[in-house]
Amino acid sequence: MKNAEQQMQFLFALRSKGVTDARVLDAMEKTDRGYFVKGLFEDRTYEDMPLPIACGQTISQPSVVGLMTQALKVTPRDKVLEVGTGSGYQAAILSRLARRVYTVDRFARLVRAATSIFRKLDLTNVTAITADGSYGLPEQAPFDRILVTAAAEDPPGPLLAQLRIGGIMVLPVGQDQAVQSLISVTRLEKGYEYTELRPVRFVPLLEGLGKE
Ligand code: SAH
Repeated sequence: MKNAEQQMQFLFALRSKGVTDARVLDAMEKTDRGYFVKGLFEDRTYEDMPLPIACGQTISQPSVVGLMTQALKVTPRDKVLEVGTGSGYQAAILSRLARRVYTVDRFARLVRAATSIFRKLDLTNVTAITADGSYGLPEQAPFDRILVTAAAEDPPGPLLAQLRIGGIMVLPVGQDQAVQSLISVTRLEKGYEYTELRPVRFVPLLEGLGKE
């Protein structure tokens, strides 16, 4: 659990990097990152940096989580899909802003760990599922919002197709290890509108399920 000073520094870091939306800041203040960071790096939990988690993956930097969540413009009526559960931190924040959240990861082990934290925190509107998220989650589509937290070269077609008209998807695109861009895609009546937001670096969106 964070102490008052850590809390203040955490919120200060978010604000100074451009996370200004009051609902997003509130959701992040209520979601203690300490539940999602385990082991060696625990003492860095409240610093604004990405940290390693199980299965060779990372929990994103809090300010990036904040900026992505802000760009997603989630409303309390929204059904949201997150691709890349990882630690579950981003999904927990989304669950405080949306009506319903589905989050998928290719590693069953990460999905199990995240599910048990959601239960502990009594977040009942978020469900984690083991699946290859490049195909989306057809049985729950369409979605009002889609957030992808692993980088693909281009926005995956099935995700574009599962976005409701008027819906927004935020995702990093670009080659693995090269410079990636965070983009926002809005589905219009006809076609899609793309906006480039900022350079980012994410782990790659991989095909198939993981071994753990
Ligand atoms: N949002 C996470 C961080 C995500 S790290 C958090 O808040 O902690 C990126 C995650 O995307 C990893 O856990 C990785 O396993 C997952 N991933 C990569 N390719 C995927 C795919 N095709 N389908 C589902 N998950 C994928």
